[in-house]
This record gives sequence, C-alpha cells and structure tokens, in this order.
Amino acid sequence: MNELKVAVVGAGISGLTAALALHRGGVRVTVYEQASALVEIGAGLSVFANGWRVLDNLGVADHIKPLGARPHELIFRSWDRGERIHSEPMALGGRYEREFGQPYIGVLRSHVQRALVEQLPAEAIRLDHCLVDFAEEGSQVRLDWADGTSSWADLVIAADGARSATRTKLFGASERYSGTSGFRGIVPAAEVPSLQDPENLQFWVGPDAHLLHFPIVPEADLVTFLAVSESPRRWPRRDTWRIACTQEEALEPFVGWHPAVREMVDAASHSERWALFSVAPLDSWSRGRVALLGDSAHGMLPHHGQGANQGIEDAYLLAALLSSDRGAADPLWAVNEYEAHRKPHTAQVQAASWVANRFLHVPDTDAQRDSALKTVAEHYSWIHQHDVCREAELASN
Ligand SMILES: Cc1cc2nc3c(=O)[nH]c(=O)nc-3n(C[C@H](O)[C@H](O)[C@H](O)COP(=O)(O)OP(=O)(O)OC[C@H]3O[C@@H](n4cnc5c(N)ncnc54)[C@H](O)[C@@H]3O)c2cc1C
Repeated sequence: MNELKVAVVGAGISGLTAALALHRGGVRVTVYEQASALVEIGAGLSVFANGWRVLDNLGVADHIKPLGARPHELIFRSWDRGERIHSEPMALGGRYEREFGQPYIGVLRSHVQRALVEQLPAEAIRLDHCLVDFAEEGSQVRLDWADGTSSWADLVIAADGARSATRTKLFGASERYSGTSGFRGIVPAAEVPSLQDPENLQFWVGPDAHLLHFPIVPEADLVTFLAVSESPRRWPRRDTWRIACTQEEALEPFVGWHPAVREMVDAASHSERWALFSVAPLDSWSRGRVALLGDSAHGMLPHHGQGANQGIEDAYLLAALLSSDRGAADPLWAVNEYEAHRKPHTAQVQAASWVANRFLHVPDTDAQRDSALKTVAEHYSWIHQHDVCREAELASN
C-alpha cells in the first residue's frame, strides 16, 4: 500500500490527469481548485497522438474520442487568395494515424475535463480552494487556503496554470510576452459561407497575423478558431493576460484577408484580447516537496497545439514515478527523475512553438516560409511520436 499523500493544486487538464494517474497507481490524491465549478465555455483543444497514448492508458480516451472531430487534412492557406500552400493527410487510417498509432482529434476542453473528473472519486476533488500560501513543515507541506483553513500533504503538485502563483513564489517572474495576442471563438461552420474545408485543420498565414481553425464535433458543424496578430508590441498590463477589446479591434488585423477569415472572426463576438505568453525554461521545476506541472512549469505558445498534450505527458510520468515502490518511499527521487525526463523535452517543444510563431507571420514573398510549412510534419514528428507511457515504464522500474 502506497502511503504517500499528494495534493494537486489546479483542476485543469494537467492537474486532473495527474490526479487520475495517481489514483490509478494507488496513491492518495486530492485536487484543490479555486473555482467553484469546473466549467469552461468557448475553448477547443487539439489532442494529438502523444496525448491520446496517455488518455488511452488511463482508460478515458474512449469516452472523449467519439465526441470530437477527426479532420482529413492539415492545410496551410495563403491569407488573401486562400490557395493551398501545403497540406498533409491526417484522416483516420491516413498517414498520421499509421505513423503515430493514434489519431489527431479536435475536442472541447470541457469534454476532456469531464471525462477525467468522472473517473475520480468525488471526494478527491475539492472546489472553492484557492491556494494563498504554502510552507514545508518537516516532511509535510502546509497548504493555506483563501478561506483561512489549511491542509497538509507529503507532496504538492502545482498544476496552477501558466500564471502560476506557486511558480512565482518559488522562482520569481518568468513569463515572456511574445509580442502577439489572439482572439478566440467557437462558431457554426454555416456562419462562414466562404469557408472551404470546414472539416479540416487549417492555418491561414499572412503578414503579421494568422488564423487557425479546426472542427470540434463529429459532424464538423462547429469550429473553434484562434486569430493571432503581431500586436500590441508591449503588453499594457502586468496583472492580467486578457484585456477588453471591441469587435472592430478583433477584425482590424484581417482587413484585406480572404472573406472566410473575416467571416469567421466576425461570426464570434469579441470582448477580450488574449496575450500570448510563454514561460522561460526554468532551471528547476521543484523546491523541496513542491513540484510544478503542466503550464505552470512550461506554459508555451499555442502554435503546435501542445500545451495540454505536454501537461498530460508530465502528469503520467510523475504519477508513474510516485506510484512505484521507490517513489512511494522517496518522493523527492521521483520528482528529480520527473524533472530530468521532462525538462529537456518540453523546452524543445517550447522552442518549436517560438519558431512556428515566426513562420506563420511572414509575407508571401518569404521563400523560407513555404519550405518551413512544407516540412512541418517531417520536422515535428518527434513531438507526436513521443511515447511517455513507455518512458514512464522504463523510468519507474
Ligand atoms: C489560445 C490558446 C489555444 C490553445 N490550444 C491548445 C491546443 O489546441 N492543444 C493543446 O494541447 N493546448 C492548447 N492550448 C494550451 C492549453 O490550453 C494549456 O496548455 C492547458 O490547458 C494547460 O493546462 P493546465 O492544467 O496546465 O493549466 P490550466 O488549464 O490553466 O489550469 C490551471 C488550474 O489551476 C487553477 N488555479 C490557479 N491558481 C490556483 C490557486 N491559487 N489555487 C487553486 N487553484 C488554482 C485554475 O483555476 C485552473 O483550473 C492553448 C492555449 C491557448 C491560450
């Protein structure tokens, strides 16, 4: 019997995956979430082969896969005329699944969250728990909540997101603004009459901006999009990564773009502009009995759609190590191993996302752009091939 008592702070995809993997491994785990309900409206997520390998292993993939959409192709289109610059086959049975053994599926984030929650005992999730402080006391950590109460755990996994207060307390500010911001939405494909291929994953790339969209329901009649522009140069606020915007401001970077792009952005109502930040690679992800996981450790630009997928990988590996006999006896060994495996890999994915940020926003005349887009699948297959389940098996034995 594993006697370890683990507290996970944050019930996002990373925290919930960690909780489920620990629970499956026989570790006593409680997830503490500041929100009073686990709902998020308006966010789609790409789950790639590397994420499905873990979700399959945890027995939740079958609950989520039928709810999502499987595009046939990844298509890059030019911003104004909409012609194809490059495309890659992705369909079920197509090259992607043959090569990586798992599909690509666009899903609603809330569907993934719900599937994970449903597999956890109700008492393992405590809502309305906002962490305001923590301190190590002997071989335990004391967690102080906003309502004045405290809890204790042998180990704390801080999965409290890209703006992690835990990370800031341990290592100071490490976020880096990308000089880009985005507008997001979910729209019925029928409201974008000029759109070809709504059932596919498409990037429209142009000078200083791009638009990404993919379907998130099986019939592809709902698509989620992220429209990104190279502005503002400096993010005006320290306290928030979202600022108010008008509909006109959201459309402004796409004046002169293909009608499908303008229709899509305009089909959603915009009141917020999202800053795109990345967390600078950290020297360490832990101090003592507190370890960072997911976006709190390595928040990244979203251009490879890997943020949640990498958090899922982190969660599985750390849970496997903590569930092993050695990890149960020596959780700090497990945390060190976790960092040694995950830091180099996620730093490479973060770097790849910065590279994508550059080649998605250059003019048609840029010769390097087309060769970068044409070799995307080949250059980044290491992300999708990564088998963290196998890695975890080797690391924990
Ligand atoms: C525009 C955009 C598009 C994206 N698209 C994709 C995609 O297609 N595919 C993909 O894999 N990733 C994508 N991502 C990234 C992905 O959304 C994140 O990487 C992922 O959701 C991070 O999960 P997380 O659990 O680490 O953090 P979060 O989802 O941020 O969860 C953190 C949780 O911690 C809680 N919390 C925070 N502070 C406290 C506290 N003090 N006490 C208690 N609880 C606390 C929060 O309420 C929250 O529930 C995208 C991101 C953006 C911005």
